Amino acid sequence: MSVTEQSLSQQAIDLENKYGAHNYHPLPVVLNKGEGVYVWDVDGKKYFDFLSAYSAVNQGHCHPHIVDAMIDQSKTLALTSRAFHNDMLGKYEKFAAEYFKFDKILPMNTGAEAVETALKLCRKWAYEKKGIDENEAEIIVCENNFHGRTTTIISFSNDPVARKNFGPYTKGFIKVEYDNYEALEKVFKNNKNIAGFLVEPIQGEAGVYVPSDDYLKKAKTLCEKHNVLFIADEVQTGIARTGRLLATCGNCSCPKKDCSGTPDVKPDVLILGKALSGGAYPVSAVLANDHIMEVIKPGNHGSTFGGNPVAAAVAMAALEVVTDENLADRADKLGNIFRKKLNDYIETSGICNLVRGRGLLNAIVINDDEDSETAWNICMKLRDNGLLAKPTHGNIIRFAPPLVMTETQLDECINIIIKTLKEFEI
Ligand SMILES: *Cc1c(COP(=O)(O)O)cnc(C)c1O
Repeated sequence: MSVTEQSLSQQAIDLENKYGAHNYHPLPVVLNKGEGVYVWDVDGKKYFDFLSAYSAVNQGHCHPHIVDAMIDQSKTLALTSRAFHNDMLGKYEKFAAEYFKFDKILPMNTGAEAVETALKLCRKWAYEKKGIDENEAEIIVCENNFHGRTTTIISFSNDPVARKNFGPYTKGFIKVEYDNYEALEKVFKNNKNIAGFLVEPIQGEAGVYVPSDDYLKKAKTLCEKHNVLFIADEVQTGIARTGRLLATCGNCSCPKKDCSGTPDVKPDVLILGKALSGGAYPVSAVLANDHIMEVIKPGNHGSTFGGNPVAAAVAMAALEVVTDENLADRADKLGNIFRKKLNDYIETSGICNLVRGRGLLNAIVINDDEDSETAWNICMKLRDNGLLAKPTHGNIIRFAPPLVMTETQLDECINIIIKTLKEFEI
């Protein structure tokens, strides 16, 4: 790297540091181009993207089908607001509702907004359909959840960094341990005011925690018994990431036939974001059937940009790519290879003791305590070796490449990862 090239990156980083709020701690790499599974930095160095913008870029960077849809629609009509109809929204709503097999969709922009929408929908349903007394509804959430950054959402987070000094917090949430069915059952007992259970089918941000096989199914059955809405936050796990269209995969249009041993749950309320646009545009959504969605009436909820024509065109194209390129099957197959090869390595490794995940949402746990810098240093070395990943919660490194990866590319990546880990063996 020459001095001038180095300074290009440094200049960009300095600008962010001086003029931008310091609400992130990025890996020091400055990107200016992406294509498929690759990104390039300002010095022209090429990397495998092993984060995919937190699983937003499942379809790969700058997918031509998605980009074309975005350009065409941007040139035609970009925004009407919902004050008027536009000729793309209904088309998209039909497409998405049929794709995910729900009666209706409520379009929003970011994941956090979609979670907020689901919470509002759940509360209103609880008062108007379930008959809970006004202001008494409670929604059950899981410990170590990540659902976004709004005031209400951080109110039920237990991450002190996300919460501290942002109070007072929104009431009406009960926290239970994730993947603990007995704990959930206990909360349901003697509480008539439970409206919903909000859950990530796999906890992504927490460090890719996969619950036991029957957890979601049993939780759903419990919800049905108590007339409680099962709300799946699939912002990160959805859209083929975990080897099927949805991690809950209940009666979905996933082309995979054999889903044995995996959860098969149809959520009452489904929350999507991130890869719903293939990373091209902020698009999120809440899906539910009529008996739930019908509690939302004009004026109850909205968003200026939600369901805009560009978002509609982009999301349809992004979902077409998922089907056309068999991304669910690909994620399933590549994920199995990834975990097998890393498990083989781990048997003899002193630095890494666990790989876990489903499909291409995986994480490795570094043999070290949460506060140590080893995981960060490994990510820096991975960067030097041409692969970008980021630690989540100290000693956990998440691996989530675009799903359009080939097996040859994956092998190359596994070699980079193992070679890098070996540099840290003690
Ligand atoms: C990323 C994420 C969100 C929040 O999405 P934003 O678009 O960042 O607001 C919500 N839930 C889950 C599970 C996520 O991974």
